Amino acid sequence: MAKIIQLSDDLSNKIAAGEVVERPASVVKELVENAIDAGSTVIEIDVEEAGLSSIRIIDNGVGINAEDCKLAFQRHATSKIKDENDLFRVRTLGFRGEALPSIASVSHLEMKTSTGEGAGTHLALQGGKIISEKKTSGRRGTEVVVTNLFYNTPARLKYMKTVHTELGNITDVVNRIALAHPEVSIRLRHQGKVLLQTNGHGDVRHVLAAIYGTAVAKKMLPLHVQSLDFEVKGYISLPEVTRASRNYMSSVVNGRYVKHFPLVKAIHEGYHTLLPIGRHPITFIEMKMDPILVDVNVHPSKLEVRLSKEHELHELIKQGIKEVFQKQQLIPNASLPKKAPMPAAKNEQQSLTFDAKQINNEQAQTPITYQSSPLESAVYEPIKTETYDVLVPENIQSSLPASYQDQSAASETDVNLDELAASQEESVLQEGNTELTDEAERVPVMYPIGQMHGTYILAQNERGLYIIDQHAAQERIKYEYFREKVGDIEQEVQEMLVPLTFHYSKNEMLIIEEHQDILAKVGVFLEPFGSGSYIVRSHPQWFPKGEEAELIEEIIQQVLDEKRVDIKKLREDAAIMMSCKGSIKANRHLRHDEIKALLDELRQTKDPFTCPHGRPIIIHHSTYEMEKMFKRVM
Ligand code: ADP
Ligand code: MG
Repeated sequence: MAKIIQLSDDLSNKIAAGEVVERPASVVKELVENAIDAGSTVIEIDVEEAGLSSIRIIDNGVGINAEDCKLAFQRHATSKIKDENDLFRVRTLGFRGEALPSIASVSHLEMKTSTGEGAGTHLALQGGKIISEKKTSGRRGTEVVVTNLFYNTPARLKYMKTVHTELGNITDVVNRIALAHPEVSIRLRHQGKVLLQTNGHGDVRHVLAAIYGTAVAKKMLPLHVQSLDFEVKGYISLPEVTRASRNYMSSVVNGRYVKHFPLVKAIHEGYHTLLPIGRHPITFIEMKMDPILVDVNVHPSKLEVRLSKEHELHELIKQGIKEVFQKQQLIPNASLPKKAPMPAAKNEQQSLTFDAKQINNEQAQTPITYQSSPLESAVYEPIKTETYDVLVPENIQSSLPASYQDQSAASETDVNLDELAASQEESVLQEGNTELTDEAERVPVMYPIGQMHGTYILAQNERGLYIIDQHAAQERIKYEYFREKVGDIEQEVQEMLVPLTFHYSKNEMLIIEEHQDILAKVGVFLEPFGSGSYIVRSHPQWFPKGEEAELIEEIIQQVLDEKRVDIKKLREDAAIMMSCKGSIKANRHLRHDEIKALLDELRQTKDPFTCPHGRPIIIHHSTYEMEKMFKRVM
């Protein structure tokens, strides 16, 4: 070993810079955060060549007085904390006193700053050394210009990616800070072109619109939940607005944006089955808590934090998100966003407005009564046999499948149609305004038109046309059915004539043994059977017929794949698997009564808008949009 020496300030700053100043975006982050800590209300950021040739940041904050200015460029010099106690109660974004000396050590840096009292100070540094010190104007605030970044660290410079990527990182940083601080007006320009401009009025939704566009901002729902320790506010996108990258999920803890993977997970769990697999929502979640609950001193760039009571916080967020969606009607609109309310039709005949009376009349002229039958799938609880009427306008009937027409011709009406029409007119259809029962409030009553390509159900009401993916719809219905069943411990058991056998390795058997009771709780009853095997003699009655072996194997695999098995999740996964099995696939012809039953059941589900894998179930074309498409209205 060589002799131990104390490194020069110069060298230790450069070493620190390696951690704090990874790329131009890190410089922007540190300088903008300094401006925010200084109480600025307006911050302007100008970058050239993605910050590699120049970064200029001007603020209107408190400024630095002449004596302190040089000190700010010393390592560990900060005005933000004084002693150890402060470290556990950090309310500012900075506190390490590392950013300015680090940035200065790897660039040419100029700072003009003034507290607004007397003259300001103008410092110029190269590679961390002060090369000039002058007086400047007394305008309150600070301007920092960083040029020739990484000029003396060629390895770092080489590591830079394309201008496009580096600029992407900068906008990402500025976007998140802007979201965390809607009370500050922030402008970001690249080579003079404005990339972000916020108004500083304190409204997050405005910042969301500035970043993601108004159309997306309109599709974000507010979230606000509270517990004793936490307050969570934010906006979350409708499940139909998703992105392939997690980058659109921003989280802020006490004004500091953070990257916190467990939080992303909690958000996803809140969306639950509403999101398509592999897609991410756009979210902005702001968490406020006593600083004592947050350890911000985990990482030099302060992007990571450690939270006490993390589990409680995540549960709060997860439940909050779930509740937001349970209150929503989530049918995506098939076409352009609505601009204006539907104008009154000039001429009765021209209008395509759904006329409830007309339909009832037509229906009265051609009464059709059906006997409903259970959907064919064996796993279904039989749908109660009842008699009901399907409202189908005459002009649409001709397009219905032959079997449907035959059936209608064969069936005799056994309901007083006048009475029915009258009661429906009052209770269901009112002046083009569907009145809904409490339970079905989230999906309007829809009247089947027919089926397309054996895959999509077409239905209508006064609001327009609905297209329903029959497979997705049934998966949702079954999923909710099984989710209930899987949770039911008093299961009725079906004995098998021939027991099923399963084989596993030693390691696997250890895991399985450990979780055998959990498996039993989802209906998998394993008996050890010699070396490496288990047999299963019985299973709950409601297991999908003919798919028992495969299902049991998949459930066991789930236990083997998860390190920590939790019964809730296992039930969940089992319900999804079961719903998938034996659901009506595309290309299957449905009778009209089956369609009606499917729609009714769908309306009874808790989440009628997406299948358990997050694909949409219903698409809507409003009457107004159709009229627009056919140029009946302008
Ligand atoms: P930290 O932010 O961790 O304190 P920095 O190196 O980023 O460390 O900044 C050092 C000090 O310089 C800050 O504590 C603050 O007092 C001062 N300072 C930096 N930037 C500004 C600014 N834009 N306006 C006012 N003061 C600033
Ligand atoms: Mg700082």
